[in-house]
Amino acid sequence: MNTREHQIFRKYLERRGLKLTAERLAVFDELFARHEHLEADELLVRLRARHKKISRATIYRTLDLLVDSGIVGRVRIREEGYRYERMRAGDHHDHLICNECGRVVEFREPRIESLQDEICQRYGFVLLSHSHQLRGVCRQCRPRVSTRESRSSAAGSPDAILRPRPPRLGHAS
Ligand SMILES: [Zn+2]
Ligand SMILES: [Zn+2]
Repeated sequence: MNTREHQIFRKYLERRGLKLTAERLAVFDELFARHEHLEADELLVRLRARHKKISRATIYRTLDLLVDSGIVGRVRIREEGYRYERMRAGDHHDHLICNECGRVVEFREPRIESLQDEICQRYGFVLLSHSHQLRGVCRQCRPRVSTRESRSSAAGSPDAILRPRPPRLGHAS
């Protein structure tokens, strides 16, 4: 294991007088094995399944270190919940987050990126980073939510935020 991210993490730990322990390395390896958006508890289950002895507290502490070192990103999915993903230089994307199931969908949109550059130029602002998190209801959860919504609106609920939009006329899809 000698990737750029691995070196960044090792140097980050050194500067803080910390060691790259077997536990920290196991969390790193699991996150960097492939590109996913993982919860801390999912990491815990996977590492334990491989007979790695690791505590939940160690996983959370290591995730904080990885985020702080800049090589892992986190996406907030609930009040107290995050999903973590490896970050690679030059691979930028933004996220759609489902409020129902916590699913995270990535998107890349060059028009949004260039609009941001324009806005920063307009304000003489040097852009260092940004994140877009669009929250809503994913395709898989929509049928469930719209059923629930039609039941509650039949009961006179004023909450119409998730009511499905009427079909657009003259649009064959
Ligand atoms: Zn969902
Ligand atoms: Zn992502």
